[in-house]
Amino acid sequence: MMLLTRDDLMTQISIHSTSKKEAPLVVPGEGLGSAEEFLAGAETYEDDGEIFSTAFGSMAHDTQEHTVEVKPITKVPELKNGDIVLCTVQDIRHPLVHVSLLLREGPPTSDLNGVKGVIHVSKIKPGFISDIWGELRLVDVLLARVLSAAPSIQLSTYEEDLGVIRALCLNCRKPMERRGNRLVCTNCSRFESRWLSGRYGRYDGFWKDQHKYRH
Ligand SMILES: [Zn+2]
Repeated sequence: MMLLTRDDLMTQISIHSTSKKEAPLVVPGEGLGSAEEFLAGAETYEDDGEIFSTAFGSMAHDTQEHTVEVKPITKVPELKNGDIVLCTVQDIRHPLVHVSLLLREGPPTSDLNGVKGVIHVSKIKPGFISDIWGELRLVDVLLARVLSAAPSIQLSTYEEDLGVIRALCLNCRKPMERRGNRLVCTNCSRFESRWLSGRYGRYDGFWKDQHKYRH
């Protein structure tokens, strides 16, 4: 037999009343409140006692369920879970990497370009990452798998063939070449490290032709 608490009763009484308050827009990585006050709802995650958004959207507190969630406003393209996409790193704010999608591998999509997605640090590669900047950098081009296509796009590079396929030298901005598990700039001899896709450097024609991505 289940005993109803006072909170349960209040919930039943007010089930038809509106208790959700709409709040201002939030961006991925933005703090939404303390995990002591609220449970992390849809499009959020908890880290060290705080709740953060994983999406662009409006924040909503549910005072009955004591949850906070984010309702994404991102336009959702014709993607499905498991799709492989090409994207470029726009911003890194630990623990999220913000990317802009370029295109989907396979059947062409019309509305992907510029759509935003995120990769959580735990989905970059197997094992602990001490320095996210040693794995991904701004304007790197990545192959990533779609973990969640809706309501917001969450991606992973946690596979051998996924990860960075093109990176520019931080020093002279020339495309770098792969040497083993590192990258070297043939122009200025700088070495850098990344989470590299097994297909590094083999994608150049593919995206260059389709996106006129020049350097
Ligand atoms: Zn260089």
